[in-house]
Amino acid sequence: MASKNMFQTPSGVKDLLPFEYDYYRKIYEVSRLVADFYGFGEIQTPIFEPADLFIRGLGQATELVEKQMYVFRTKGGDLLALRPEATAGIARAYLQHGFQTLPQPVKLWTFGPFYRYERPQAGRYRQFWQVDFEILGDGSAVMDAQIIQLLFEIFEELKIKDISVEINSIGDSQCRPYYKKILTSYLRQNFSALCQDCRRRFKENPLRVLDCKEEKCQRVVNLAPQLVDHLCEFCKTHFKEVLEFLEGLQIPYKLNPYLVRGLDYYTKTVFEIFAKNSKLSKNALAGGGRYDSLLKILGKKDVPAVGAAFGVERVIELFEENKISIFKTKKKPEVFLAQLGKAAKIKSLILLKDFRKAGILVAENLGKDSLRTQLKNADRLGCRYVLILGQQEVLEQKILLRDLRSGKQEELKLEKVVTEIKKRLKNG
Ligand code: AMP
Repeated sequence: MASKNMFQTPSGVKDLLPFEYDYYRKIYEVSRLVADFYGFGEIQTPIFEPADLFIRGLGQATELVEKQMYVFRTKGGDLLALRPEATAGIARAYLQHGFQTLPQPVKLWTFGPFYRYERPQAGRYRQFWQVDFEILGDGSAVMDAQIIQLLFEIFEELKIKDISVEINSIGDSQCRPYYKKILTSYLRQNFSALCQDCRRRFKENPLRVLDCKEEKCQRVVNLAPQLVDHLCEFCKTHFKEVLEFLEGLQIPYKLNPYLVRGLDYYTKTVFEIFAKNSKLSKNALAGGGRYDSLLKILGKKDVPAVGAAFGVERVIELFEENKISIFKTKKKPEVFLAQLGKAAKIKSLILLKDFRKAGILVAENLGKDSLRTQLKNADRLGCRYVLILGQQEVLEQKILLRDLRSGKQEELKLEKVVTEIKKRLKNG
């Protein structure tokens, strides 16, 4: 139990300890291989950006901006925000670095921490990690499908089974205003049946009433006019194509006419991926969609784009819940390097570098001086060979090699030790 005076992590954030960080590394590695194959370049945008980027990009009245963003003023007077999501920063970078002059689409991906001031609870943190993919500069439906396919491939590699996509189209600036009008008039008639939050949402963005989780609002929403019935021809065809691609890929999907996602920048396709049969089945593993108007908002340029992100902690929670093992058993060192005296320590540091370069795992206990303790450690680690280096050996440019299995000990030339060990390990 920590003492009262000891510092602790702030509420909603946690340390990633080495055994947990192994998961993060594995998820990063799997994502990187898939991203590389599909031609995504890795990008890291800063953890903080001008607050206005998110306010304008995501929408002032969105929950993310209004309630969940960490905003601070610097000593120089700039208003900055910790990034609550990846898309706006990547879109900013695309414009800032003139990526629209490159062959399109430009595919980018990132892995890193994001910040949201949310009520901490299972599966919800104030600092969480996402893997995020963005395809900028291509409006075709096949791109939407490719992003979903990519996430499915990563989840498959990570042995996550039983997942499905909930998908919807929320139209574009052609068809959404008309739908908003019909929806507003329907909601006005049912205003008294809405929860407090939705009464506010009704004024700010009535679409957001559609994904309210409150039971009383869901009763109203269930009878509300649906956006998919009011899409313009262009959005309808686009959505139909996305679904055809998913069918072709045999990706299980469910139409969810009430899925709108909380941000203003989305147009056309929006989707979320869920793990079935999980305690966390109410929390999405991943979410994304098309945002054909974001870059126009940020840079007055029409650049169609689509993207998605998955939450690393949610994936790890699934591993733990389903006892999924994603690691190969770690290689154990078969060689232990024991040393006695300063000159031997210096030589050991150099030898360790040579072994690392040769790809041979070697354990050591450089801080210890007693040979007995070091041999004990070698035994505890289950090493087959112990190399012993003392003052005398350093002077004579030799090293002792003890085979713990046979108990035999012999002398080797120091300059040959790496090749000799390599040979012995190869021959078993
Ligand atoms: P979103 O940008 O809200 O669609 O989030 C994409 C994914 O990030 C979600 O599906 C979650 O897996 C993950 N995520 C979002 N917010 C949090 C959070 N507060 N804590 C942990 N994971 C989160």
